[in-house]
Amino acid sequence: MVEKQGLILVNTGNGKGKTTAALGLAMRAWGQGLKVLVVQFIKGNWKYGELEAAKRMGPDFVIRQMGEGFVRGCTESERHSHEQAAAEALQAAKTELAAGKWDMIILDEINYAIKFGLVPVEEVLSLLEAKPVHLHVVLTGRDVHPQIVEQADLVTEMKEIKHHHKKGIKAQKGIEF
Ligand code: ATP
Ligand code: MG
Repeated sequence: MVEKQGLILVNTGNGKGKTTAALGLAMRAWGQGLKVLVVQFIKGNWKYGELEAAKRMGPDFVIRQMGEGFVRGCTESERHSHEQAAAEALQAAKTELAAGKWDMIILDEINYAIKFGLVPVEEVLSLLEAKPVHLHVVLTGRDVHPQIVEQADLVTEMKEIKHHHKKGIKAQKGIEF
């Protein structure tokens, strides 16, 4: 058995918990003295608690919000700015990955960015191919691409059994943001 090995992990599925599970992992890693970077491909409109947490945790836990929000139903020009933001996020991911400074990089909602054609899957595959051996990479988002699954070491599917949203309960502080 190999003792120390960087892994490719995926959190996907239609149930809640993909991003929060990745952040839980990030906290675990940070607690072990690992340096963690989160690159968010799709930025939401909320004031997420994890941004404040990361600030307080200091330089070994960094969150970079790069995306532009969800794409579905946007206009042509909005689409263009989404594409640009996603390209910038991908470029940032590449640079940070190559820098060798981090022990774990979380590419949050990258699966969504791939699905909506904002990020070419081939580029993500070659990025994973080129990753430093020790580095853990976590990819989150629904509808993971089958080729990413093939390249990954660990894939978890969150499955919705119930979600309070369906009862008309709005996003709650500390739960959704
Ligand atoms: P979280 O960030 O809470 O871990 P997630 O990363 O699994 O959620 P996303 O697909 O990124 O989920 O969706 C982002 C938002 O949509 C979250 O606020 C989440 O609560 C909400 N959400 C996730 N799954 C569902 C669902 N099955 N029904 C309704 N809302 C959902
Ligand atoms: Mg998410």
